[in-house]
Amino acid sequence: MIDVAELPSPLLYEGVVGQERVVTQLRRAAHQPVHAYLFTGPPGSGKRRAALGLAASLLCPNGGDGTCRVCAQVLSETHIDVVVMERSGAYIRVDEAREIGRVASLTPVDGPRKVLILTDFHLVENAAPALLKTIEEPPASAVFIVLADHVPPELVTIASRCVRFEFSALGEDEIRDALEADGVSAAVAVEAARAAGGRLDRARLLAADPDVAARRAAWEAVPTRLDGTGAAVSVVTDELLALVQRAGGEALAARHAAEIAAIQERAALTGERPPARKELDARHRREQRRLRTDELRWGLATLAASYRDRAVRGRHPWEITGALTALTAIQEAAEALIRNPNETLLLQALLLRIQPPR
Ligand SMILES: [Zn+2]
Repeated sequence: MIDVAELPSPLLYEGVVGQERVVTQLRRAAHQPVHAYLFTGPPGSGKRRAALGLAASLLCPNGGDGTCRVCAQVLSETHIDVVVMERSGAYIRVDEAREIGRVASLTPVDGPRKVLILTDFHLVENAAPALLKTIEEPPASAVFIVLADHVPPELVTIASRCVRFEFSALGEDEIRDALEADGVSAAVAVEAARAAGGRLDRARLLAADPDVAARRAAWEAVPTRLDGTGAAVSVVTDELLALVQRAGGEALAARHAAEIAAIQERAALTGERPPARKELDARHRREQRRLRTDELRWGLATLAASYRDRAVRGRHPWEITGALTALTAIQEAAEALIRNPNETLLLQALLLRIQPPR
């Protein structure tokens, strides 16, 4: 039995909410490091945040105190030996898998180990064989933390080479409680938790965004605004995309600015060279893009709920059939989002499909 006092600090896992069991397992696991870990669980369950915590405990010269330079840099994704690999397209490509192998083979700069965090590996598809060899025969200094929403057949062999940790979905109640603990008012916490689709990161942004209720109303009103004309489709599409543009963007931008200020302040205090802005800026851009996709996905889910109501309450058979057709079309549009489509064309095509005949 390991003495709790010797485990890496819980500070490393601050911000990983509702995953006490897996956090305890991870803190214990740092005592006997292996070369490959797999974290599975739904989006927003804290896998990436927890991966940084584990990486800090593996690199920290003090066994994961959560307070030293190394820990601070790892947790802010600015440590030179912690590389977060992200796909650039809808799936992970073979050349990206090879790049992972190349990066893994580079000698660490700051200490004896380097950690590669491989995100979205449920989208590994054809790239899995290219990566398997790297994970089976890793360079001695490399540790892999593979993140995946679930384990599709292509990932099974890689998964069998990893020590696995499972993250569970957060319930609305847990998200609401976490927001209230942040100091958010009860009414705002309830609305943000409901609109967050089980994701605490998104709930926090929504809670800082006063327009959630208005945006929900706009998506719910879509069925009443389509009159069978192309003009209406065009106007509604533009309005919805303008709402998506505004959603939470300011809150996220403010958070990014605060993060940059904190890093600069730390660099000024300690005299260390601040981390390269390029990586930080690239991550901030990815987060802005993800925010957009999340917002669009939530909008489509809100619209679907509105049609589901109509299907249930409809008095005429044509109302019910129309609502069911719309639900199918919305579902298909939501699935298409994963392929980074042109948002205007996607929404226009959807609204044309679901609008009533003139
Ligand atoms: Zn440390």
